[in-house]
Amino acid sequence: MKNKADLLILNGRIATLRGFSDKPQRGSDFGRLGLTDGALAIQGDKILAVGPLEQVSRQVELSSARIIDAGGRLVAPGLIDPHTHVVHCGSREMEYGMRLAGTPYIEILKAGGGILNSVRQVRQASVAEMVAQTKKSLRRMLAYGVTTVESKSGYGLDTDSEVKMLRAMEILNHIQPVDLVPTFMGAHAIPEEYKDDSDEFVRIIIEDMLPRVKELAVFCDVFCEEHVFSIEQTRRIFKAARGHGLGLKLHADELAPTGGAQLAAEMGAVSADHLLCVDSDGIIALAKSDTIAVLLPGTSFNLMSNYAPAREMLEAGVAIALSTDYNPGSCPTENLQLIMTLGCLKLGLSPSQVLAAVTINAAHALKRADLIGSLEEGKQADLVIFDADNEAYLPYHFGINHTWLVVKSGKVAFKKHEEDYCEDRYPNCSGS
Ligand SMILES: [Zn+2]
Repeated sequence: MKNKADLLILNGRIATLRGFSDKPQRGSDFGRLGLTDGALAIQGDKILAVGPLEQVSRQVELSSARIIDAGGRLVAPGLIDPHTHVVHCGSREMEYGMRLAGTPYIEILKAGGGILNSVRQVRQASVAEMVAQTKKSLRRMLAYGVTTVESKSGYGLDTDSEVKMLRAMEILNHIQPVDLVPTFMGAHAIPEEYKDDSDEFVRIIIEDMLPRVKELAVFCDVFCEEHVFSIEQTRRIFKAARGHGLGLKLHADELAPTGGAQLAAEMGAVSADHLLCVDSDGIIALAKSDTIAVLLPGTSFNLMSNYAPAREMLEAGVAIALSTDYNPGSCPTENLQLIMTLGCLKLGLSPSQVLAAVTINAAHALKRADLIGSLEEGKQADLVIFDADNEAYLPYHFGINHTWLVVKSGKVAFKKHEEDYCEDRYPNCSGS
């Protein structure tokens, strides 16, 4: 007996990204979209079949399926944002004018701004307040076609506040459709109270925080940088995190080449992120490893700084993913489609490569490529239909939202509004 589909997408130009569930796309494979014109059948939250309609109808019983006609539009796996600080409190637009006027970050910090401002707000906030603010952001992300989001703690910087951030993520995973992948990042900054004794703070992370968060987080991340957490401190935190069963991620080589990429590769981190200043040894280490380079061009754009050497990495064989880095300081945007444009214009990637970088390679950067990141039989039915004929149109027509419809776990979770322009006020204009 054939499986019965309950949802059928017809007439899609489907970017399946198939064939890379066990390894990321790199080198000449990077940007292989596995395009097929046809249909996609879903049962429950799983994909039953993808391919030409005749083939799908041979495999699957379609008589009782709800039908969505994609009308030739591009159908892609639900987008994955593998590096965000989406859970936070308030916003920091007060610093924007200071930044535009050229005020150094250290002066902004002294004036009560910067990351420690976000820490103050998170420490004062309730879980409910964080949930409410983040829920709005996740709705916006879903509207941009994003169905899975990695989410870091790291604005608490004390045990209770870090746990509070991770609890907010746990609640959000139950009350809205976007999947959050929680990362513990107690080592995001050195809090005021330990500014003269960072080793003591590292001890608190290892002895107090990690045992409390191990059930709430999937990954542990560290901001490894000069004047923040050293290579040696990062290694200690990583060893302890691994002992608690957490996967590893690293904010690496963002401001200077400190050997972060090498450490990530050596310790088997799932990803090394930022990498603006990675040197050639770091690139070689990543290329030889399974560690994904998660690049964040929106942060470079917003800070008016340099960009990661993506072409060099690509040519060396590093597997690349892209992400927003959404956070209230260095990159306040939920728009992953805009990041795809920056990936083309500023990192030198092609439209098909940036699509792979926010789908299958982003899934690998979260160790979830067995479940998401491509449209293949048996995978979770997370997909986005763009109001676009092809993949190049997405980054090319930039700054706007191309999403037409989003399916999350087999259910329609977002549909673009038909614009309502009140044309009765301008009757002579309509239809012209
Ligand atoms: Zn970050």
